[in-house]
Amino acid sequence: MSNETSRLAPLELPMLLLRGLVVFPKVMIHFDVARDKSTKALTAAAKGNKLIFLTAQSDYSDETEPDKIYKVGVVAEVKQLLKTPGGVTRVMAEGLYRAKLVNIISDEPFYTASVKKYPERNAKIDPMEMEALVRAVKDEFKAYCENMPRMPKDYIDSIIGSDDPKSIFDNIAVSMPLPVNEKQQLLEANGLHIKLGMLLAMLSREAEVMGIEKDIQDKLRQQVDESQREYYLREQMKVIARELGEDDSVQDEAFDYLDRINELSLPEEISEKLSKEADRLARTSSSSQEAYVIRNYLDTCLELPWNKFTKDKIDLKKVKAQLDKDHYGMDKVKERILETIAVKKLAPDGSGQIICLYGPPGVGKTSVAKSIAKSLGRKYVRISLGGVRDESDIRGHRKTYVGAMPGRIIDGLIKAGSSNPLILLDEIDKISGDYKGDPSSALLEVLDSEQNSTFRDHYIELPFDLSKAMFITTANDLSTIDPPLKDRMEIIELTSYTREEKFHIVKEHLISKQLKKHGLKASQLKIADKAVYMLIDFYTREAGVRELERQIASLCRKAAKELCDGEKTKVSVTTSNLEDYLGHRKYIEDVVSHTDEVGIVNGLAWTSVGGVIMPLEVLVMDGKGNVEATGSLGDVMKESSKIAVSYVRSVADRYGIDRNFYKEKDIHIHAPEGATPKDGPSAGVTMTTALVSALSGIPVRGDVAMTGEITLRGRVLPIGGLREKTMAAYKEGLKAVIIPAGNKGDLDEVDKAVKDNMEFIFAERITDVLDAALTKKPDTSRNEEARSAAVLTAREEDRRVPVHSRKRS
Ligand code: ADP
Repeated sequence: MSNETSRLAPLELPMLLLRGLVVFPKVMIHFDVARDKSTKALTAAAKGNKLIFLTAQSDYSDETEPDKIYKVGVVAEVKQLLKTPGGVTRVMAEGLYRAKLVNIISDEPFYTASVKKYPERNAKIDPMEMEALVRAVKDEFKAYCENMPRMPKDYIDSIIGSDDPKSIFDNIAVSMPLPVNEKQQLLEANGLHIKLGMLLAMLSREAEVMGIEKDIQDKLRQQVDESQREYYLREQMKVIARELGEDDSVQDEAFDYLDRINELSLPEEISEKLSKEADRLARTSSSSQEAYVIRNYLDTCLELPWNKFTKDKIDLKKVKAQLDKDHYGMDKVKERILETIAVKKLAPDGSGQIICLYGPPGVGKTSVAKSIAKSLGRKYVRISLGGVRDESDIRGHRKTYVGAMPGRIIDGLIKAGSSNPLILLDEIDKISGDYKGDPSSALLEVLDSEQNSTFRDHYIELPFDLSKAMFITTANDLSTIDPPLKDRMEIIELTSYTREEKFHIVKEHLISKQLKKHGLKASQLKIADKAVYMLIDFYTREAGVRELERQIASLCRKAAKELCDGEKTKVSVTTSNLEDYLGHRKYIEDVVSHTDEVGIVNGLAWTSVGGVIMPLEVLVMDGKGNVEATGSLGDVMKESSKIAVSYVRSVADRYGIDRNFYKEKDIHIHAPEGATPKDGPSAGVTMTTALVSALSGIPVRGDVAMTGEITLRGRVLPIGGLREKTMAAYKEGLKAVIIPAGNKGDLDEVDKAVKDNMEFIFAERITDVLDAALTKKPDTSRNEEARSAAVLTAREEDRRVPVHSRKRS
């Protein structure tokens, strides 16, 4: 007993605290120490009986607290101490036995502790059970080592080959990278079988974690490998090409293209086709025609805004505000645009109608479209269709053509840089088909929401989705638009501007716009109101305001020059100096007859520059019944003259006209300003009136203008452009206009100033026109005398004259 007591009696030993390391008995260990206290403890031990108490601290601090020191450690024998130049002491020691800390005797200059041996209490255990446990530990250890790449094979073999459960435990416990607290648990546990059980659990857990870790690493490696593999293959290809004397600059180029294609994450069909082209490029010679074609093709395709969209902001109030800000008047137009956009907002994917802005040049069609794009936050692009005659203008040429290019639609999208821009198809009425395919039907596909999600350009050869783009078209003339195309569109008419409207547009928009463009301040250039009117009346003649804007731009340029020359500090344009700036007036007032004359009638015409007075002259001479029409009259007008002659023959008696005029007189009809082409049926009443006047010798009122189509039987049919035509008559200072009764409904459109200041005479029949326009009642007595003589010769022809009209005359 006393022997036992002495064996277990506390010993006083230097103590060394280990960080991150647990020492086991019967195991040789190497470690480095740097702390001063540790070095001193080791030195003291080495000088004494070489024994030292090694125990771990649970934290990593330099000066640890006593409660962080594990109570169970190992008494070890210091075998070797080696001081390195860095101040670190390298230690070799051998664990002897497990010991427990009783108390710390002093902590200066190093720890001295009283420790006593802490022997294992080994319970009796069935050898079979032990055997099974050992085998299980070995198996787990093997599994564990499979995932530990740098475990020495000898070491593994020595453990697997060992039969001593204790040494197996010690060796594994020492070498396994376990957390300190777990190692401490292994050290403190009592009974070999319990220790082995704990080790088994830890081994199997580690093996599993390491298995998962390995999986993750493998996956990572695989990913890296794949991209590296591609890289190596490409590099190899380059080397091979170089060896074969081939040009490797195209290879580099092709790889650049491939990279760009991959970056775009395009649908498979598209990226496959483009990659094929890039591959083809890699196999050509850099300066060949083929390489040039492929490069162009790839550049164009890659520039297309695949997957690029701007975000739509449909706010009706904003749209209205923008339209109002940029445009004076146009109330009806703005209202209709807002309606269409409201529908678009409610049914974004619906096959909404396409807006067609229709009207004469310069009335703001383009600029309305721009404002819409701006207010919706969309990119804007204008595609001009003027002069498009060939389908390939729309859809592009196949790549096989020399100098092939994509069509205007694809070109527009590239310019827009987004897949949902607002595309303005300008002058859709100016396209015409020829033998090379019909551009209208290609456009129809572009505008059809059912088909345009896979629009194929001949050059691109790939489907491109146009369905997100918004289309607006413009036209000057509806009659030349292909009917199916017209059907797809919602026509919004922009009418020509009156003088007053032009004045407001100039004052409120054009001047400030042009000043800004020319870098001028409002104070530097002033244009007097009267000078603005002068610009409108004598420097421009147009339905819109485009020329007017040009004239203002010209004034700005002249003013800028004067300001720069230092001649003036501000420029004022007035009626008296306008001619100095812009030269002589470009337009003189119309030579319109305001006096009553025979054979001259003020007709009204509607041209691209708005309404104009179109005087018509008729001269009757002795002759053989020839009818001559001059003044660039179109076919329809020529036909009108024939209708007029036939009609006048039928009513000759009533107006005191010689019935045989069509045989004995030559008639010459002329519309002055002979060089300006004129056409349309609405000059019917004018011709008839001039003819009746010339043949009957009755003058026509000079203060009246007229318009209207007539039928053979003398009915007056409605005409178009009432607003512009009446405006022209008003501007000319005429008193009355004779218009078809059928146009009564269009009076709303007529400018208020015109309605207030002019008399409107509605005509159902040509007789109403003649009653109002001729200054005198016809003298029929001459006919009464001639009647008996003429009736016999003219009988055959007169069959067609209605009986009642003859009776009345
Ligand atoms: P269009 O496309 O009908 O030929 P534009 O849109 O090119 O006509 O118009 C010509 C110029 O006149 C543009 O600068 C435009 O801003 C201006 N403009 C036309 N109508 C108006 C208006 N109602 N208010 C302000 N500016 C206008």
